[in-house]
Amino acid sequence: MNGRVLIIEDELELGELVQLYLSKDGIDSDIASTAEAGFGLMANNAYDLITLDINLPGMDGFEFLQKLRQNSNIPVIILSAREGDEDIVLGLGLGADEFVNKPFAPKVLVARIRAILRRYRTDQDDHNTGNIIFGAYSLSAEGYSLEKDGSRIVLSTKEFEVLRFLVQHPGTSFSPDDIYQAVWGQEYGDVTSVAVYIQRIRRKIEDNPTIPEFIVTMHGRGYLFDKGKINNES
Ligand code: CA
Repeated sequence: MNGRVLIIEDELELGELVQLYLSKDGIDSDIASTAEAGFGLMANNAYDLITLDINLPGMDGFEFLQKLRQNSNIPVIILSAREGDEDIVLGLGLGADEFVNKPFAPKVLVARIRAILRRYRTDQDDHNTGNIIFGAYSLSAEGYSLEKDGSRIVLSTKEFEVLRFLVQHPGTSFSPDDIYQAVWGQEYGDVTSVAVYIQRIRRKIEDNPTIPEFIVTMHGRGYLFDKGKINNES
């Protein structure tokens, strides 16, 4: 099974132990010894899951998770030696997927990682296959194509990816930051380009781009693809 895990852990030996067990399972990983270094690695690499230590020098695991969840839904397993951490995570609704207490058996941790990766991948695959029909349009997520009444609409790769992201999550509003993170896969960058892409897409799919029917502007909240426009998935 492949996949790539980011291990945020300041105890190098423990990080390397987890890395070793993951590599036996064919799972690649990188180790960040601080939360800040974790964000740095995430800016340049795509990960499928994060294991997160709580007691870290500088930004701690709670702060990391809080910041991460503003724009990412990557699965997170918290590894903690502190009693009561689970209560804090649950209490604050920080959005961890699992909680593992230290000390733990590496085999058990790897089994949990595998289970989450498998579940997550299945969800992703569900989103990524099949054509999505809206209005007179048919979007093929896999084929990277958009057709209207059977004729292909020419979109740039990023225009397509922005549209696909919105179409795959109809009825949910996304800020330009959310969209940037999802499509460009980076936390920091020129977020203003998102508005430019939305305008370009509207010019290509909306009858009247100034009164959009498909990609609606939610004032103060970003953009939303109108759920009512999705006809069916086949
Ligand atoms: Ca620690």
